[in-house]
Amino acid sequence: MRTEKATVTRNIAIVGLGPRGMSTLERIVENARLHPHSPVVVHAIDAESPGAGSVWRPTQSWHLLMNTVASQVTLFNDTSVRCRGPIVPGPSLYEWIQRGGADELDDPELRAQAARLAADDYPTRALYGRYLHWVLDHVRAGLPANVRLHVHTDRVLAVTALGSGGYAVVPSHSTQAITVDKVVLALGHLPASLRERERRLEAFAITHGLQYIPPANPADIDLADVTERNTVLVNGLGLNFFDYLSLLTSARGGRFDETTGGLVYRPSGTEPRIVAGSRRGVPYHARGANQKGVTGRHVPRFLTPETIERLRARARGVGGLDFYDDVWPHITNEVAFVYYCAMARQSDPAADRRAFATELVTALTHGPEHTRPLLRRHGIGGDTEWNWDCISRPLGEGVFASPEAFTDRLLAYLREDLVNSYGGNVDNPIKSALDALRDLRNEVRQVIDHGQLTAASYREHVSGFYTPLNAFVSIGPPPRRIAELIALIEAGIVTVAGPGFSATADPRGHFTGTSPAVVGAEYTGDVLIDARLPDPGVVGSDDPLVRYLLDSGIGRRHRLRTNGTEHVTGGLEVTDRPYRLVDACGRPNPGVHAFGVPTEGVHWATAAGVRPGVDSVILGDADAIARSVLGLDDPPDGDHDVRHEAVLTSEPHALPAH
Ligand SMILES: Cc1cc2nc3c(=O)[nH]c(=O)nc-3n(C[C@H](O)[C@H](O)[C@H](O)COP(=O)(O)OP(=O)(O)OC[C@H]3O[C@@H](n4cnc5c(N)ncnc54)[C@H](O)[C@@H]3O)c2cc1C
Repeated sequence: MRTEKATVTRNIAIVGLGPRGMSTLERIVENARLHPHSPVVVHAIDAESPGAGSVWRPTQSWHLLMNTVASQVTLFNDTSVRCRGPIVPGPSLYEWIQRGGADELDDPELRAQAARLAADDYPTRALYGRYLHWVLDHVRAGLPANVRLHVHTDRVLAVTALGSGGYAVVPSHSTQAITVDKVVLALGHLPASLRERERRLEAFAITHGLQYIPPANPADIDLADVTERNTVLVNGLGLNFFDYLSLLTSARGGRFDETTGGLVYRPSGTEPRIVAGSRRGVPYHARGANQKGVTGRHVPRFLTPETIERLRARARGVGGLDFYDDVWPHITNEVAFVYYCAMARQSDPAADRRAFATELVTALTHGPEHTRPLLRRHGIGGDTEWNWDCISRPLGEGVFASPEAFTDRLLAYLREDLVNSYGGNVDNPIKSALDALRDLRNEVRQVIDHGQLTAASYREHVSGFYTPLNAFVSIGPPPRRIAELIALIEAGIVTVAGPGFSATADPRGHFTGTSPAVVGAEYTGDVLIDARLPDPGVVGSDDPLVRYLLDSGIGRRHRLRTNGTEHVTGGLEVTDRPYRLVDACGRPNPGVHAFGVPTEGVHWATAAGVRPGVDSVILGDADAIARSVLGLDDPPDGDHDVRHEAVLTSEPHALPAH
């Protein structure tokens, strides 16, 4: 701890108190604790539910699940995190429950959920929201004497620079602005204004007495007017689709009974008929049952720290990498490596695993003509070779003779996906390979974030190919959701239309959903749901604060420019860590930081949470921002040496009773 003279008070505003804002608050408090003579006042402001934020607000339906297991969700840092601030451990969601954190919750349903939750179960979003509220209480209860915290439930409409060097933060409910020295924007998922197609569908729905639901978080949508008399066309088969399925079936009193033949759905009679589809025609791959414990992950063999360093140097040297040529070969080798190792463990259990892995790395580096003979020696080959086409278009490119033929094929595929999933994310070759993509997100970020790809490559290869592929294969629903979908199809509640699905406004006065890959797949509906979240970033956002930041020039949209090609990525432009917002003239704002979802494009895959024990990038980011707003690391900007200022080996505060 340094000896310091008393200094002037630092006033800091955190706008957005979801997981990232909360993590920033925790980091500010723990860093400030080590500087007791430096007074700090923090204003933490969230429009919806300070601590949990809007995504995790505890008041939402219990039928909405996380797609992360309970032991892999936290808000506290640990010794894996490379940051300069103190390591102050705390319980993950699962540990919090184990320690009785949920015992005093006033809601009996949430207490019951917590009581039956296992480490590898998928919690409800509401339960995670209660954990996040507890984290806020915990931080508040343990504030050091030099930190004062004001929590506001309010929406910030504007942040303006003051002549004196500080900022005025303008909340909607108060006539008085909050004056601060530093502002952290952790705005998360923002509402979007309707695009042209969506506006037309909405107008069509109004004209014809239909219902149109544009891209949104399903928890924010009132489905009361969707009744058993409606046919709902659902455009999209991702996580959002599964949320709507739950809200329209089990949340209405329908029941899934366990039988020896799998789940059987017992309808409540209030479900609409649901017809769904997507470009690929199949839902996202189910997550493999977790066999990695809390911190297990695939350790990269190709996208190693040395390769990453080489790629970063090359990006600087040539003015931008090409994702397909420079990055994708490493990713696909990692995936194939994990797949073949799992295959070999099954087909040749007696083989020396370490020797096989070493040989496999060399063979994959040199190409298929080197890999195939090695695989053959271990009994792997032919149609068991890794094949991206089978993964990304599992039902192929053919045409199905009838909806019934398609449904039979789909059900067989879903059952196989479920079997693979129960096989586990280490033992099952396919699930282990796909889960490796999730493990590799940090490595991928290191070679593509902050403009390291050319503009064309980012647009075509990342936005157009890798981001959707990654979502489809590695961040899908819990396996239970696939089992429920099978039961709903068998019960006649849900029909999946087929690949190439499109849902349009039919001049005859209804919505029509069709799949060109299935003969006879034409369905009419009176409700149309675009089942996806608004795009991350800020393009198309109609959020008043974002509009203000852009219109006033405090912020600007991020653009990549290479060789005459420009790509507006959609995010707010920020500098390297500690992520200062870049103004309209290209200058970093000295006192405004932004991170997370609105910076998507500068950063990749920002719609993610904090996992313990794996050097979560969010925790490192939050610490760097916290230290910057406290004036601990400036200058130099962006320096994030990995020495910790102090390491606490136990939590400083006991779990407070609720
Ligand atoms: C429906 C949904 C499900 C998800 N499920 C998972 C999952 O299971 N696992 C996982 O790892 N990730 C999941 N995610 C990804 C999600 O991005 C992260 O888990 C996490 O919520 C990101 O935290 P954040 O703080 O950056 O953003 P958010 O959680 O979005 O929080 C931002 C907060 O800022 C507030 N805010 C915004 N503007 C203002 C303003 N002007 N004034 C005041 N407050 C403001 C918002 O109200 C919100 O509360 C999910 C996302 C969504 C939308």
